[in-house]
Amino acid sequence: MYLKEGTICPQCECGVLKETTRELVFNYKGETCEFKSEKVFACDHCECDYAASNWDDMCRIGEELRGFCEEVDKG
Ligand SMILES: [Zn+2]
Repeated sequence: MYLKEGTICPQCECGVLKETTRELVFNYKGETCEFKSEKVFACDHCECDYAASNWDDMCRIGEELRGFCEEVDKG
């Protein structure tokens, strides 16, 4: 799905997605991975966060998360 600013939120179908900067926090097996100041789309109604606002960021975050999960799996 291609998201852009102004897209109706797929979660609540009520709010509108807006590009914003958030701190993203992921948990995996009790370990935490943080991304400071990532651009994401967030709903102004239900306040859910959506994926990074562009493909490059999404790939980079995905890569880093994968590395993080591997590290956690290693122990
Ligand atoms: Zn919403």
